[in-house]
Amino acid sequence: MAEVAAPSTRIKFWGTRGSISVPGPATLRYGGNTACVELRADDEIVVLDAGSGIRALGAALEEEFGAQPIKLSLFITHAHWDHIQGLPFFQPAYDQKNEIRILGFDGAGATFRQIVAEPMKAPFFPIAMRELSSKIAIKKLTDMECSLGKLRVKAKFVNHPGICAGYRIFTPAGSVAFVPDHEPYEFFLHAAKENRPADEEIARAEERSALVRFLEGSDILILDAQYTDEEYKSRVGWGHGSISTAISLALDAHVEKLLLFHHDPAHDDAMVDAMLAQAERLVQQNDRKLQLAAAREGEELILAGQKQIGIPSAHL
Ligand SMILES: [Zn+2]
Ligand SMILES: [Zn+2]
Repeated sequence: MAEVAAPSTRIKFWGTRGSISVPGPATLRYGGNTACVELRADDEIVVLDAGSGIRALGAALEEEFGAQPIKLSLFITHAHWDHIQGLPFFQPAYDQKNEIRILGFDGAGATFRQIVAEPMKAPFFPIAMRELSSKIAIKKLTDMECSLGKLRVKAKFVNHPGICAGYRIFTPAGSVAFVPDHEPYEFFLHAAKENRPADEEIARAEERSALVRFLEGSDILILDAQYTDEEYKSRVGWGHGSISTAISLALDAHVEKLLLFHHDPAHDDAMVDAMLAQAERLVQQNDRKLQLAAAREGEELILAGQKQIGIPSAHL
């Protein structure tokens, strides 16, 4: 009798950089393209963000599928350029055989449809979104949970200028959380005005606990760790996290493996190595177990084995 293969989930990094692409000799190992991650599980192709890295993903998909249609779901976390700028260069969007669903939330002052169309608006780009030949469905998310075949996707708004979501994808082999842009709640980017100073401490604690619950037990967490702790001191309010805040969030949420993500454009490969070493020291000092890596463009991660798909009851 043939053995039934254990489910596996594959993740590939196509863009790991934050803010702006920085190709060149100094970023060869960790990569210069902006945010784009591919996840494959249970015959679904999920793409997380459409930074400049999505261009190479598109070429690879066309090569792999040939004349066969490509069906995929692209989740956008937010409207900042480093998360949408690659969309006009995503080759599968120009081929009528392909079906592309683009999902995300309305932004601050812009609908989700406007956000997706923005990089292709005249006079900044010669082809409009509506002229793309593939079957594109733009789906504005309103619920914080949806299904893709057997996969479940849960969303949560995080602390970043404007509206920014994080996603967690539950697959048969485990769950992957993607929070590419997030500042720790020590500084409150949204809702701060609605909270009187006396309430702010409570609000911060509540927001952080809600994020910890959202991430609780993730097998993989891809998280904003743009700055060193020293750099963060002069960048409070810029919307990004630091090494120690990323580590403490991952430890509190009992994450299995943390991937440092959204590398600063000013950081070369040696700097990212140094930040990873600092992160490892912090985990040791805490006397805790946490697998750590800095996300590298082109790198693949595999989750294998049967896990129960499901959101812990606390989230329902
Ligand atoms: Zn970003
Ligand atoms: Zn951003």
